[in-house]
Amino acid sequence: MLNNFPVLYPDELFYSAIARYRQANAIDSKLGVERDIYGIERHHKVGKSVYFPQKLETFIERLPFYGNLSVDELIWEHTMFPFYTAFMTDDKTNEIFEAMSYGNRMSIENMVGIPMSKIKTPQFLRYCPCCYEEDLNKLGESYWRRLPQVPGALYCPIHKVLYKDSAIDITKENLDYICADDDVCNEETANDEEVVEYKELDERYVRNVQWLMQNRIRLPPNYISSFYIDRLREAELTSYVGNIKMTEFLEAFQGHYSANYLELMQSAVSIDERNSWTKLFIRNTSKNRSPLRHLLMLQFLKVQLAKLFEMEPVIGKRPKKKSNRVPIYSSEERKQQWLVLLTEHPNANRKELRKINNGLFAWLRIHEREWFDEVTPKGCKRRRD
Ligand SMILES: [Zn+2]
Repeated sequence: MLNNFPVLYPDELFYSAIARYRQANAIDSKLGVERDIYGIERHHKVGKSVYFPQKLETFIERLPFYGNLSVDELIWEHTMFPFYTAFMTDDKTNEIFEAMSYGNRMSIENMVGIPMSKIKTPQFLRYCPCCYEEDLNKLGESYWRRLPQVPGALYCPIHKVLYKDSAIDITKENLDYICADDDVCNEETANDEEVVEYKELDERYVRNVQWLMQNRIRLPPNYISSFYIDRLREAELTSYVGNIKMTEFLEAFQGHYSANYLELMQSAVSIDERNSWTKLFIRNTSKNRSPLRHLLMLQFLKVQLAKLFEMEPVIGKRPKKKSNRVPIYSSEERKQQWLVLLTEHPNANRKELRKINNGLFAWLRIHEREWFDEVTPKGCKRRRD
């Protein structure tokens, strides 16, 4: 039985509560803590991950007042799970939830695609020095929160000061359970001179991260890509069928975010880069895509997150229109066809006429340019004879 396990604070990582349990009970060895948390036979190979603990059912069953804390609450409110699964399907989210509840051979980091991702997670546990000071005054102790651990989150949304690295290197093998205390944190705020110009962007980003962490809706596969294509089409950054006009898109994207900010967000793009992440990001639906990049994209498209998750009908890619292929006709026959088309569409301008029969339009423009220009309206509105 696991007595006096502390009550978790808002946004506290489960790892942090274990560290406080250890300190309060003066348990020397890490092994001893794990034996308490997971039971004697399960102290090895359990999820020791700071972000994604496993075997949480085992832990909950060991609590004396089993029922006060649920696995559901633990996973959704005290791990990085809601952020990293936010753009995954229901099935995948459930699969990861199960793996965290009952244990899994593979690390959850692997399941959510962190090792393969271009977005690296912070090396150290991070914290806000003002939250830290306030905690000490109000609670007599501080704790590790989830929000500062989110990649790309720069400022504490409450105190508007930079998050800082603690001395806890979470990439270390055999990481111990260590509290957020004087040994590894302090109250000094960091100088934000170099990043202060991104404060506003960061505020929006962090607000969206918080929204994702509270939202439990998951989107169907392919929906997100179609949603992006629709928004890009509205911004005239795709063709009618939904092919992205890559150069225009990249120019607009770089116009919205400065190169330095994108660098800071581990998401630099370049116009020349044929395989830049943005291109693959919109086209590739099967790959895990970082929530950070989804947020960058949605913010660029000026989409409110709630709007995306409302799941209104989307169009996405349209099937290619059957081209009106011109059979082998003589020049005269083609001219005749064109004249008929002009009579049938007396008010159509050149662009519209092209849409009606692109093949004929193109052929005549190449082979009968002079005649074509003479009979075809040029401006927006057709001359009426
Ligand atoms: Zn703070």
